[in-house]
Amino acid sequence: MTHPAGQQRVTRDTLRLCRNKPKPQMQRAHFRFYAELNDLLPQQRTGLTLTHAFEDPASLKDAIEAFGVPHTEVDFILANGSPAPFSQLLRDGDRISVYPVFRSLDLTPLTHLQPRPEGDMRFVLDTHLGKLAAHLRMLGFDSLYGSDCLDEELAHISAGQQRILLSRDRGLLKRSLVTRGYLVRATHPQEQLIEVCRRFNLAGSIAPFRRCLHCNTPLQVAPKDLISHRLPTETRKHYDEFHICPGCNRVYWKGSHYRRMASLIEDLRSNLLWS
Ligand SMILES: [Zn+2]
Repeated sequence: MTHPAGQQRVTRDTLRLCRNKPKPQMQRAHFRFYAELNDLLPQQRTGLTLTHAFEDPASLKDAIEAFGVPHTEVDFILANGSPAPFSQLLRDGDRISVYPVFRSLDLTPLTHLQPRPEGDMRFVLDTHLGKLAAHLRMLGFDSLYGSDCLDEELAHISAGQQRILLSRDRGLLKRSLVTRGYLVRATHPQEQLIEVCRRFNLAGSIAPFRRCLHCNTPLQVAPKDLISHRLPTETRKHYDEFHICPGCNRVYWKGSHYRRMASLIEDLRSNLLWS
């Protein structure tokens, strides 16, 4: 049992120690963000060298994210002229250059911080990007989406299934668990589609109308006689080719919806060709 007097003495000693402890000195590091990373900074800070003041050493990841730039946007960091990992601790006087993924510039063999894509591109989208998910499925890309998915689940799906997490929520992309992600800048679904196709070089991999727009399952050819009882009379009369979704049982044919989507895909392709 502690004696009350001893307790008092400890408290006084502790206070004295606290008073004598030198205050941590404010340190400063200087950051420069390049290319489209500037989209993520406030207007008045773009293209400038920005000073970051800190007391305790922070990792480069945390310091970069303090500017509002999720680590998923950053592919390469130079600290005082040398490549640096996200985990490197910031030091007083550091000069840090931060670069995005360059689509048309091959930085190999430099140290990329974003994983290189392997095989087919697969996505998982946050709850605000339902239309973009349907558009990506229309182009044939495996795109998971659930309107009631929690952020925690999205981060786990992305990490566990190695899917690129598409989001407009910077907080979600700052989670350490998320190593593949992209902050969608545009607000209109068609502009978002162009943006994502450009960012991930999807133009050459487009395989339209092979995946269910509603549940993401690959479609199968359906013989007309097997599904004709489910068709509207006019459709039965004018169409002979059908696909069915084994996931949700929807039937697809090349009606007015198909023609609208085909024209959207044509616009997208010519847009990507000139970008
Ligand atoms: Zn389906």
